[in-house]
Amino acid sequence: MPIFEYVCDDCGERYEKLVMSKSTKIACPKCDSSKHTIQLSVFAAPANGTKASNGGSSAPSGGGCCGGACGCQN
Ligand SMILES: [Zn+2]
Repeated sequence: MPIFEYVCDDCGERYEKLVMSKSTKIACPKCDSSKHTIQLSVFAAPANGTKASNGGSSAPSGGGCCGGACGCQN
């Protein structure tokens, strides 16, 4: 399930929501503002997990647009 991380535009509070549908109401738990910026959740991103423990960093990373932080690499 997609868990999105939000940053409140008003107070800067970071919070996560499990979004079931587009009609899910997103509001800041701190100030109840509906203005927010969506961040990519670190839990949803396919992190560089299994290969890194081998010690050989031969993966073609580092040349991407963001180094994987935005999830553009699969
Ligand atoms: Zn807020």
